[in-house]
Amino acid sequence: MDKLNNKVALVTGGSRGMGAAIAKRLAQEGANVALTYVNSQEKADNVIREIERLGRRGMAIAADNRDPVAVRLAVEHAIAELGPIDILVNNAGIFEVQPLETITLDDFQRNIDINVKAVFIATQVVASQMKDGGRIITIGSNLAERLPMQGLSLYALSKSALIGFTKAIARDLGARGITANIIHPGPTDTDMNPADSDFADMQRSKMSIPYYAEPRDIAGLVAWLASEEGRYVTGTGITIDSGTNV
Ligand code: NDP
Repeated sequence: MDKLNNKVALVTGGSRGMGAAIAKRLAQEGANVALTYVNSQEKADNVIREIERLGRRGMAIAADNRDPVAVRLAVEHAIAELGPIDILVNNAGIFEVQPLETITLDDFQRNIDINVKAVFIATQVVASQMKDGGRIITIGSNLAERLPMQGLSLYALSKSALIGFTKAIARDLGARGITANIIHPGPTDTDMNPADSDFADMQRSKMSIPYYAEPRDIAGLVAWLASEEGRYVTGTGITIDSGTNV
C-alpha cells in the first residue's frame, strides 16, 4: 500500500461520501492529501485526523464550488502547504432532480457552477503547476449516458460536459505525461443516494448485480488510475455501476 508515496493529492468534496473514501484511500497508498468541503467542517476534520493517523499530511479547506475565487484560493493554499498537486480528484458535486418546466436560470447556474465551472477552475490552476506524470480524475455519473427516470436534465447536462472537458485536457496535457480521466459511478451508498432510500430499489432493479457500490469501491478505481499502473489510460471514461448501463 505505498503506490503513491511522496505524492500530493487534492480531493474536492472530501468531507463525506465518495470524496472522504477517496481521500483516505489515497493516504493509505502514501499520498499527502488536501480536501475541500463547504459545510461539514467536523466531518472534514475527522477525515484529516484519519489521514494523519496513517502518517500522512492532510489539510481541510472550506471552499464553496459556487465561488470561483474560493476554488482558486483553495488550490493555491493546498499547493503552498503541501507542494504541487500530483493527483487532482474533481469529486464535489450536487444531484438535483427537477421537472424541466420548473427549472429556473438560477437552478441552471447553480448546477453548472458546482458541477462544471469549479472543475474547470480547479483543473486549470492545478495543471499550471502540475509536474509531468500527474493525474486528473473527475467524478462524472453513469447518468451522463443513460437515464432511468425523469427530472435529470440539469444533472445529465452538467456531468456530460465533463466528458468533453476530460477528453480535451487529455490532449492538452498529454505531452507532459499527465493523464485525464472521468469515472462514471452508478448508485453508490452516500448521503446523496442512500442504499435504503425510497428510490434505492428502483435503482437496484436496473443493475446487473443488484448491489449499491460502497464509496470504497470508487476509491479503489481512483487509486489505481492515480498509480503508475494507470499511466497509459487517458482521455477516457470508466463506468463503475454494477452493470446498470449495459
Ligand atoms: P455526497 O452528497 O455524499 O457528498 C458531497 C461532497 O461534496 C461533500 O463533501 C460536500 O461537502 C461536497 N460539496 C457539495 N456541494 C459543494 C459545494 N458547493 N462546494 C464544495 N463542495 C461541495 O455525494 P457523493 O459522495 O455521493 O458524490 C460525490 C460525487 O459523485 C458527486 O460528483 C456526485 O455527483 C457523484 N456521483 C454520485 C453517485 C451516488 O450514487 N452517490 C452516483 C454517480 C455520481 P459538505 O460535506 O461540506 O457538504
